[in-house]
Amino acid sequence: MMFDAIVVGAGPAGTTTALLLARAGWTVALVEKHIFPRRKVCGEFISATNLPLLKELGIADYYLSHGGPPVERVGLFANNTIITATMPHLDNAPSKWGRALGREHLDSLLLDQARLAGAQIWQPWSATQFQKQDNFYTCTLTQKEKTEIISGKIMIMANGSWEKGLSQSALPPHKPTDFLGFKAHFTQSDLEANLMPLLVFPGGYGGMVHTDNSRITLSCGIMRKTLSHTRKIHPGLSAGEAVAHHIISFCQGARHVLNKAQREGQWLSVGPLRPGIRPLYNNGIFFVGNSAGEAHPIVAEGISMALQSAWLLADLLINKQADLNQVGREYTRKWTAHCASRIRAANLFTQIAIHPRAVAFLLPLFKHFPQLITYGAKLSGKVKTLPTISK
Ligand SMILES: Cc1cc2nc3c(=O)[nH]c(=O)nc-3n(C[C@H](O)[C@H](O)[C@H](O)COP(=O)(O)OP(=O)(O)OC[C@H]3O[C@@H](n4cnc5c(N)ncnc54)[C@H](O)[C@@H]3O)c2cc1C
Repeated sequence: MMFDAIVVGAGPAGTTTALLLARAGWTVALVEKHIFPRRKVCGEFISATNLPLLKELGIADYYLSHGGPPVERVGLFANNTIITATMPHLDNAPSKWGRALGREHLDSLLLDQARLAGAQIWQPWSATQFQKQDNFYTCTLTQKEKTEIISGKIMIMANGSWEKGLSQSALPPHKPTDFLGFKAHFTQSDLEANLMPLLVFPGGYGGMVHTDNSRITLSCGIMRKTLSHTRKIHPGLSAGEAVAHHIISFCQGARHVLNKAQREGQWLSVGPLRPGIRPLYNNGIFFVGNSAGEAHPIVAEGISMALQSAWLLADLLINKQADLNQVGREYTRKWTAHCASRIRAANLFTQIAIHPRAVAFLLPLFKHFPQLITYGAKLSGKVKTLPTISK
């Protein structure tokens, strides 16, 4: 079977690319190893900047009607300090504020749209290897003991950055300073509806936001060594419970929000996170979403960058498909202009957040000038719209 494109991974990056290419008449194979719907480690916040794109993708109505309440304020919960500030917003936009939507809904909706557009879905199949032939790729798919080989003129890697397998480079060995990602849903919390606080605690950072179905998400990045230390002190706790214990011990705001809250479902974990910018193109292989570049989730922009990088790539492929190297260069230039600053801002904020002395030094400043938090959210990309579809 020869496809115009094989897309590996059906997160927001892969589904968006597959859907846009299929709509433009391309034959597309979209390969996803997990059965949907599935929960995923993610804070689930989607910035308002994506609304025009979500409209194009056919899921804006669901996002607006089923997502959590609009997030109008950003907060900072650190030690005993609770500061809130205005979330930067888009002027003249039909919906000024972002909101959260469970990944079990978002990813399934996007996959349905890709299927409707004509993409051929291979699920649950894992892409286990691929090989360059003369002017196309063969890709081996496996499902338990079954194997299939499909071919594509190009490969689009949207397989995220946290799973073993088809990553573009070998995963580095584990380090004590690695960040691990955790997430859980809670009901009956005391989080104000329109507030998304950043949680700062020794060895990590986190966030909380109302999502769909009257739940909040609590998600965080925590250093491996911090988690090991906490688990040594509290040997009976599971990793997720140890994370929650650590956050609650060091963050009064989180303690208050979670006081009467009930966890819904299991803690989920991933890691190590791999923040950074990676090659975006290599000889007919394109990278989108986290496989192209990953921001520390302290800025909650990973879904945005996944959707937006997919849009940038699909737009170029559809309009300039004749010369792949040219598309690769253009895509790299546009991606860098659009996404790189968010990754750098996220690195900077993380370095500050994990150093208690830096936090203690800056907190009085943030208390006096909460607009600095608004500015930080702006730097993290909360009003960075895609130039091509700012309708
Ligand atoms: C703690 C935490 C909180 C976060 N909070 C937010 C937030 O609030 N807002 C936000 O915007 N971002 C957030 N993010 C980031 C966001 O989750 C990611 O950036 C986003 O999921 C990236 O999308 P993607 O499509 O590139 O990859 P993914 O969503 O990781 O999707 C990759 C897909 O590829 C599949 N796959 C992998 N390998 C194969 C293979 N070999 N064959 C077939 N399928 C394969 C996987 O099963 C998966 O479905 C957070 C991240 C973390 C860790």
